[in-house]
Amino acid sequence: MRKKLIAGNWKMFKTTAEAVAFADEFKALIEDKELISDVAIAAPFTQLAALNDSFRGTAVKVGAQNVHFEEEGAYTGEISANMLTEIGVDYVIIGHSERRQYFAETNESVNLKLKAAFKHGIVPILCVGEVLEERDAGKEFEVVRKQLTEGLSGIGAKDAGTLVIAYEPVWAIGTGRTATADQAEEMCAYIRKVVSELQNEDVAAKVIIQYGGSVKPENAAEILGRENIDGALVGGASLIPKNFLAIAQY
Ligand code: 13P
Repeated sequence: MRKKLIAGNWKMFKTTAEAVAFADEFKALIEDKELISDVAIAAPFTQLAALNDSFRGTAVKVGAQNVHFEEEGAYTGEISANMLTEIGVDYVIIGHSERRQYFAETNESVNLKLKAAFKHGIVPILCVGEVLEERDAGKEFEVVRKQLTEGLSGIGAKDAGTLVIAYEPVWAIGTGRTATADQAEEMCAYIRKVVSELQNEDVAAKVIIQYGGSVKPENAAEILGRENIDGALVGGASLIPKNFLAIAQY
């Protein structure tokens, strides 16, 4: 049985003071509770060390939202996987649609970043998903298959078995327009099938597949109740401690 992973993606929100205030409030909320899901927060780089300190000794893990694929070098403004492990980062989001759209990330750079994360023992959350025109044209499965095939190229079964994949239909991100639970389940099941073809059935059974796009406390239970949906990647609702916890404890 796969344990659910509820991960917050804070995007470019919260200063360090705000991040620590969130952590204090969240810790108080979970103090007398057993979390039913694995929980992680992917914060901006400058908040990671403070968040990791704040959440030490709790079940809450910390993630980054990007990583460079080289070990080190003349790459002004970039952060390596090694730098992330040094401050205790457990997860890294790779290939989020906003990075594909605004920062020219390609399946090829995503592939290199996945390899860098695996090399340093950071669990990647690989984001895939179609834009609205692709869904309207009936191409969503084709698009996601290509993202998976190129993104996972050359990655071995041992690493792939630890992977998290987030299906985030771009038209459902920050729009309030959630995919229906049927649409989300259909794609997550398809993703598992593609992983089984690219890797093997054992890897496909292990891989954690999240849904992301306008997940809120009100729709979490319906989405997370589906067989192939192993968690959620949560944007806006992860900024408020009680909302994020309500999703994690759906
Ligand atoms: P929202 O939950 O704000 O729609 O964002 C989803 C997302 O992009 C998470 O990575």
